[in-house]
Amino acid sequence: MGLNEKEKETARMIRSQMPHIIIDSHVHCSPKKRGQALINEAASIPGNMFNFFPWGKHRSFFRRVFCDLQYIATTLGFPGKDESNNAYILHLSRTYKNCIPIFLSSNLPEKGWGRLFAGLKMYPSSRQKSSAESKISDVFPEGALKSADRSKRAIILHLPRDIFSHIEELLALAAKYPGISFIIAHMGNIYKDRKDMGDILGTIKPAKNILFDTAMITDAQLIGRTIAKLGCGRLLFGSDAPFSYIRGRYFEAENKIRLQSLIKFSWVNTAEHCDYEKEAKNFKLIHLNIIEAILGAVKEVFGETSRQRTAKEFIFHANAKNIFQGRD
Ligand SMILES: [Zn+2]
Repeated sequence: MGLNEKEKETARMIRSQMPHIIIDSHVHCSPKKRGQALINEAASIPGNMFNFFPWGKHRSFFRRVFCDLQYIATTLGFPGKDESNNAYILHLSRTYKNCIPIFLSSNLPEKGWGRLFAGLKMYPSSRQKSSAESKISDVFPEGALKSADRSKRAIILHLPRDIFSHIEELLALAAKYPGISFIIAHMGNIYKDRKDMGDILGTIKPAKNILFDTAMITDAQLIGRTIAKLGCGRLLFGSDAPFSYIRGRYFEAENKIRLQSLIKFSWVNTAEHCDYEKEAKNFKLIHLNIIEAILGAVKEVFGETSRQRTAKEFIFHANAKNIFQGRD
């Protein structure tokens, strides 16, 4: 994955503007060597694009882009994959101090996960994603929430639908389980800013144990709105690597924001793909776009003041440190 000239320039800018220690709160990792080609040709949704991605590949990416910055990653397996992945993630965290382990589970997590792992992630099934009736508690059953609450662990919450559909249940769960930090992945599956997001954020503000991650979010306006409403203590830098190591763009189709990349996935039509290819040479890795969007948003909200530096420190490091590393 060589960087092009534009990406190298962005990487230099990023290195000069980011804190010296970064925690990426959303990194997928897998031990499997097979499928060195990273793209899953049978993918039908963006999240299925990558098959396998061992830690060493992340490390070489971090080194190339961030050079001497210290890069810590909250690591978890891949959705729908063999959960022996958890053993690998645990092994990584014991071998590399820069690796914070998250437990991935599709059923009730095994007893004792909270002692070994810093957080829990469970995925909505495709059936849950497509049903308007799906609830958070279908993805995270009561037993899982209770154990996370008892051990005061974070859950990384990929909502079955979006934050607008789940707001009431989310607020109720956050009040019922004060020991859990609810980290809402992908800004609640809202990829482009919308005005009514301000109301949602206002409603969430008093619930201090609800936070957001920036996984695959490249919209500075949406991030800026979040910071302006919630302050800097409720947003965590997360990338969704290796998924974020693609070059692509977001577009709107059938009232949904979708991601388009160089691979012609089944959900991208031919005309749209041809348009994409014409412009693709100007695109940068989504990973860099996420970071640029955060830096841009912070600058926009705070201007050239010392608060800008503090805000970056919170979003890129301190918030995640409090949640994942402030453990006993
Ligand atoms: Zn993810």
